Amino acid sequence: MSVSEPPTRPDGTVIDKEAVRRKYLQERDKRLRPDGNDQYVRLTGRFAHYLEDPYTPRTEREPKTDDRTVVFIGGGFAGLVTGARLKEAGIDDVRIIEKGGDFGGTWYWNRYPGAQCDTASMVYMPLLEETGHMPSEKYAHAPEILEHCQRIGKHFGLYEDALFHTEVTGLQWDAARSRWVVRTNRGDHFTARFVAMGIGPLHVPKLPGIPGIQSFAGHSFHTSRWDYDYTGGDPSGAPMEKLADKRVAVIGTGATAVQCVPHLARACGSCSCSSARRRRSTSAATTRSTPSGSPTSAPRAGSSAGWRTSRPTRPGARRTRTW
Ligand SMILES: Cc1cc2nc3c(=O)[nH]c(=O)nc-3n(C[C@H](O)[C@H](O)[C@H](O)COP(=O)(O)OP(=O)(O)OC[C@H]3O[C@@H](n4cnc5c(N)ncnc54)[C@H](O)[C@@H]3O)c2cc1C
Repeated sequence: MSVSEPPTRPDGTVIDKEAVRRKYLQERDKRLRPDGNDQYVRLTGRFAHYLEDPYTPRTEREPKTDDRTVVFIGGGFAGLVTGARLKEAGIDDVRIIEKGGDFGGTWYWNRYPGAQCDTASMVYMPLLEETGHMPSEKYAHAPEILEHCQRIGKHFGLYEDALFHTEVTGLQWDAARSRWVVRTNRGDHFTARFVAMGIGPLHVPKLPGIPGIQSFAGHSFHTSRWDYDYTGGDPSGAPMEKLADKRVAVIGTGATAVQCVPHLARACGSCSCSSARRRRSTSAATTRSTPSGSPTSAPRAGSSAGWRTSRPTRPGARRTRTW
């Protein structure tokens, strides 16, 4: 085929590129909203708890006032790989600053049941050869990826100077000293010759601004802050036995819901799933109690359009997924 010839299908028919382009634009337009990020609720006031770290207790420390060659903001893959390569290059004083309680970034925060990568692990997980780790699955589950992040941190000595549960709140260039002045929410006030950042796009949970979210009185949390104290179970997939008498609604039908809903459907009294739009997004889970031992007698959690409910046909039976 020469460049000037129109593209064809395997059966020889010509592909109408303009029609394909129009279709893509149509589908894109369905997903664009004029309110953009304003569609989400700000996580302040009564919503501030959605930001809390449920995984690691915060430890007190003295504020830092020293100087470093490189400071990296964010302890996910970006920070780990940059830190590792800088250490390999002989830069010893690399400080990673991370809001969460450990390395991992996405994989620190996302511990919901069923979480796993959807790019092949051998491609997705960084520094495998350097650390000698062989992924155990083609698409590794979250606990293995988090453990690998910790392995990178230990292997390259990145823990020694890391600041966890610390959020960078200010960066200012001091031209006279040729240094960045770094400020954090822990009272740190130190300098660095270079500052780099890999803060990721997904570290702030998004709550939809839907009617009722202000007044909902049941228990709720975001999938990136999974409340295993409430649900029972653990990130490795142990049954969430505390949900047996609960009616659970998941807001969101993206890849996160696809991964966690089967676990919820297995565990809880009834499980409903809803989204106004179909896109890859993280999800929020909300629960209400249902009468113990009668999962099918609970009123339908959402009967309006967009809701799909999964419930057992007999107690103990595996739920059929209907989405
Ligand atoms: C469940 C899930 C599965 C995914 N699977 C894949 C996949 O299979 N393939 C793929 O390519 N991508 C996948 N992704 C996308 C994933 O986010 C990236 O692959 C990658 O982990 C991003 O790494 P990062 O270091 O850039 O950002 P992150 O992992 O988001 O790390 C950024 C860190 O910066 C911290 N931070 C932010 N602001 C500050 C601040 N001011 N001060 C201090 N710290 C701060 C955050 O707390 C966060 O921990 C997935 C995402 C999710 C949620």
